[in-house]
Amino acid sequence: MPDTLVKRDSYVSERVATLKPSGIRKFFDIAATMKEVVSLGIGEPDFDTPKPIVDAGIASLQRGETHYTSNAGIFDLRKTLAEHLERLYGVSYDPATEILITVGGSEALYLSATALLNPGEEMLIPTPCFVSYQAEAILAGGVAVEVPCSMENNFDLDPRALEAALTPRSKAILLGFPNNPTGAVASRETLLEVKRIAEEHDLVVISDEIYDRLVYGGHKHVCFSSLPGAKERTLLLGGFSKDYAMTGWRIGYACGPAEIIKGLVRTHQYTVMSAPTTAQAAALVALKEGEPYVQQMVAEYDRRRKLIVAGLNEIGLPTFEPKGAFYAFPKVSVTGLDDETFANRLLQEEHVAIVPGNSFGAGGEGFCRCSYATSYAKIETALAKMRNFVNRL
Ligand code: PMP
Repeated sequence: MPDTLVKRDSYVSERVATLKPSGIRKFFDIAATMKEVVSLGIGEPDFDTPKPIVDAGIASLQRGETHYTSNAGIFDLRKTLAEHLERLYGVSYDPATEILITVGGSEALYLSATALLNPGEEMLIPTPCFVSYQAEAILAGGVAVEVPCSMENNFDLDPRALEAALTPRSKAILLGFPNNPTGAVASRETLLEVKRIAEEHDLVVISDEIYDRLVYGGHKHVCFSSLPGAKERTLLLGGFSKDYAMTGWRIGYACGPAEIIKGLVRTHQYTVMSAPTTAQAAALVALKEGEPYVQQMVAEYDRRRKLIVAGLNEIGLPTFEPKGAFYAFPKVSVTGLDDETFANRLLQEEHVAIVPGNSFGAGGEGFCRCSYATSYAKIETALAKMRNFVNRL
């Protein structure tokens, strides 16, 4: 027994204590206290999950499938996913050893960082990016190194900036295209350059392609692992949340070299055991029968995309044309306000919720994220209110 009483400042580990609360949450906590907020803040589809997918989940429960699945997920789902990726992108994964079904893309991101990073090793992250990327690196004991993308370059990654950020501790690059929050897609040339850099420095590329099906204006999504020679150093991450409007089901996946996937499975089996059985059964039907619904949702997102991009530009907020996901990213700093002040005042004065760009890392300052995963009518209302606000400034 120690002879003096020790008093700790906090029971929370330093690693967790250093995680910054998400800027999005902070904002929505304020919005939740207000009445009649028009929200362009949401990062999830406003559509409900298509009926055949819901029915598949119910039928699975009724068949008594209320047990664990194998750690890696239902084999038929992995096999169907392998066929789906082969058909779309010509990339071939062995369902037995190269695919893991996860609890959303979120778990796949966490597992990837934990499986790859030794303490102090660096993960290069093009920003602005999804809010959890930096946190995953920190939770894994690694370091997040941000590589800002700019509007001048259509928020595509500049390979020279990536190269300039390399150090002897660099281990992985985490790409997120189509991008949350900018809506940018990466060009094939850029991705080939990233592949070259990864090869030269022996890095793993984690490619979060969760918005792969949500692309517009004739853009064809390039799957990173389908680039010649890329597969052996790529972890391809994806999920059902966005493409099939299944956020609440919590199903995603990681595909990659068997050795790395084995590493992901190790953490997965000790943390979640297996992804929800009901949701896996639903995801299987999403792959088999979901295509017409994906097409319908993409057509509707595209209609809203055109409305919001034209509307924001008309108001005088320069907005580049997003080719993917469901976000527009106007440059609000032209009003003389920083992004945080712009979003705060817009919320207080016009009850429109958007997200300040600085929540998404370096390169996001001066911009705000406006989601168009909400109805056409609500976008029209929000645009009218934003116009009033900007005119008053
Ligand atoms: N990646 C990106 C880029 C995202 O925007 C999101 C959700 N906002 C995720 C991953 C995680 O999604 P989920 O866990 O629902 O699959």
